[in-house]
Amino acid sequence: MSTDAEIEGLLRREDEHYLNSIDLIAASNAPIGAARDNRTWGVAQFRSAEGHVGRKPYAGTHLFDEVERLAVRRACELFGADYANVQPASGSLANLAAYRAVMKPGDTLLSLDVSSGGHLSHGHPRHIVHDLYQVVTYAVNPSTGLLDYDEIRDVALRQRPKVIVSGFSAYPRAIDFGAFSKIAEEVGGTLVADISHIAGLVAAGLHDNPCVCPNAIVTTSVEKTLRGTRGGIILGPAAVQPAVDAAVFPGLQSSVGLAGLVSLAETLGDAASPGFRAYQRRVVDNARLLAELLLAGGLDLVSGGTDTHLLVLDLTRTGLTGRDAEGRLQDLGILSNRNMLAGDPRPPFVASGLRLGTPTITSRGFDEADIRELAGIVLAALKAQHWDQAERDPLRERTVALRERRRPDDTLTDLLSEGA
Ligand SMILES: *Cc1c(COP(=O)(O)O)cnc(C)c1O
Repeated sequence: MSTDAEIEGLLRREDEHYLNSIDLIAASNAPIGAARDNRTWGVAQFRSAEGHVGRKPYAGTHLFDEVERLAVRRACELFGADYANVQPASGSLANLAAYRAVMKPGDTLLSLDVSSGGHLSHGHPRHIVHDLYQVVTYAVNPSTGLLDYDEIRDVALRQRPKVIVSGFSAYPRAIDFGAFSKIAEEVGGTLVADISHIAGLVAAGLHDNPCVCPNAIVTTSVEKTLRGTRGGIILGPAAVQPAVDAAVFPGLQSSVGLAGLVSLAETLGDAASPGFRAYQRRVVDNARLLAELLLAGGLDLVSGGTDTHLLVLDLTRTGLTGRDAEGRLQDLGILSNRNMLAGDPRPPFVASGLRLGTPTITSRGFDEADIRELAGIVLAALKAQHWDQAERDPLRERTVALRERRRPDDTLTDLLSEGA
């Protein structure tokens, strides 16, 4: 591991903590391939350079360009896009570049309110996007938890935004990108379709692909369902290339690391495989089953279920806050996150919802029987009366047993032992 004793200690503690947890955070995943193999990358681990493919103002970057070309080609093939920029350091920066490509400061951006499941980089009041643009919002219907496309169209017709953002962080249902695209077209704007959460599902054909919309710039992070290491991608029609490229470099970033491009190219290669599609199907099946079991056990879910890799519990009737529920599960070694509900009366740090996702546990090999046991543990924890030792201890034992059952084909254990 590390020769720095302080770091070595922290890394060991993090491994022990994380490998002894069951990770239900919808935004996380266990990357395969690339991260495992980075010891064989040689100088690529520390090389970086600035500039676009074939136009880097540094000598000796021709092989760097070849790796980047490969990543671009794979991204275009995987998502059926004419153009890709693979340089954004993160999904948030991909969004900033997409906005910058088609808007001037002060222009109007229409996005989903963060408490309804939008992302900070869609214009949260404390994000720089909110300072740069006139941000107006739409919301999900608070009683159904669903997007209301007629209502979104009405807001768009009133506000005439230059950009409409769709694609969310905590929306469990399928998104109708075609409907968003039509609304954007009607008001003469651009659709920014942010598929950060669902990129793996889109790549596997399990969710509509916004790359077919002629007026869409599609952005994504790489480390969520796409199962790569950290990074961002922007996709779109060929016509957006000059503006998007310029918005990324020199508009927002300078150099890009070769290691990130190598990892991304590998991630995209893997995402085109039948094994990846089978994995994504299991992610969705696991999320559906978990949703059904939690509903059957008497809990409420935003929108009544899921079409994706994530679900959001509405805890209002349980008397627990999001923070309480997250804490109870964490006491058992189960990681999740508190989440705002549309119109949530509680502040974000407390919240009334809990978001659960299946990408990481599916990477760890969780099958139907495991999900049944997991749902039983979650239900018992959230319905417990006192959350004292007598209630906690048996659930802790069940959680440990579940975790240990999945240890043999655990991607992370595999990853760590191969890297050792
Ligand atoms: C996670 C997320 C992002 C940001 O990705 P980072 O790589 O963390 O910057 C952007 N948009 C949505 C909808 C997300 O969920």
